[in-house]
Amino acid sequence: MEKHVTVGVILALTMILSTFPATASLWEHSEESQGRDGTLWANIPGAPSTNQAQMPLPFAECAIGSHQSPIAINLTSNLIPITINPKTQNPDNNPAAEPERHANSLHIRYMRSTSSIEGANIGKNEDNAYVFRNTGHAVQVSFSKGYPGKLFIGRELYPLVQLHFHAPSEHVVITDKHPSGKQYGGELHFVHQRDDGRLAVLGVFLDDSKHYGENPILKKILENTPRKHDTYNQAGAGIALDPSKLIPGESGQVFTYAGSLTTPPCSEGVSWYVLSEPLKVTPAQIRQLDEFFPLNSRIVQNTAARTVEIHKDLQVDHDHDHHY
Ligand SMILES: [Zn+2]
Repeated sequence: MEKHVTVGVILALTMILSTFPATASLWEHSEESQGRDGTLWANIPGAPSTNQAQMPLPFAECAIGSHQSPIAINLTSNLIPITINPKTQNPDNNPAAEPERHANSLHIRYMRSTSSIEGANIGKNEDNAYVFRNTGHAVQVSFSKGYPGKLFIGRELYPLVQLHFHAPSEHVVITDKHPSGKQYGGELHFVHQRDDGRLAVLGVFLDDSKHYGENPILKKILENTPRKHDTYNQAGAGIALDPSKLIPGESGQVFTYAGSLTTPPCSEGVSWYVLSEPLKVTPAQIRQLDEFFPLNSRIVQNTAARTVEIHKDLQVDHDHDHHY
């Protein structure tokens, strides 16, 4: 019985994968992988159709996974579980978010770091360092192996490995005022990975308004990220950066659920934590992100009855000794 199931799955995967051109290669390293080759999510069997789609690629989990990200976070008191996915217009079982029952504390302890020009070797560096990187699909800061910044989920420790930006936001928030989901100008993802491979991503919305001042940390990142795809900044050594300054505060709520990476390979088993309080940026800063990568956001996926829990126990440590 089990064998038949396995064979069936393999056949299904083979059928899905064989519909993609043989030239398609890994997200991180291919020119085709930049979302400009006209291949849409809509062309992936099982993926929701969309006009806003822009992410290509032959990764089966993106198409057939049931715990995919991003999602629409339902903050209405509407408990009727069947809603319409605000982006895909497909029926979705999207229950209202509810208070977390297990109440793990969430503790952000990011430290300041200093830029290096060693490019891809940063992953082996035992010192506290980082590099500015244009991945080909996002503006990114990648941290060294020795970078001491961490996220604590209860007693579990997740080292920060990179942060990157999407514009517009990937998650949307359904409220009574925004029944089809509020989308922000952008979204920042802090990606944490433990030695055993487990992933936790912290999402921060970027709210842009002409009434807000320029965010100085985002400014520093935009100025130093190379324009050329799949490259590292090879000149900007010694630039101090404190990622804790990209956390808007501890006063808001945190929405947590089980999801996936939002870019191929779309791996599931990712613990998501999305802050309700956005980071304030200017419309010009969102435009600058757009100039790097217009629309590098994945459309919301069906929640499919997953529960989003609301977390309130957030603590943020700031590196007070230095002002960067
Ligand atoms: Zn992301």
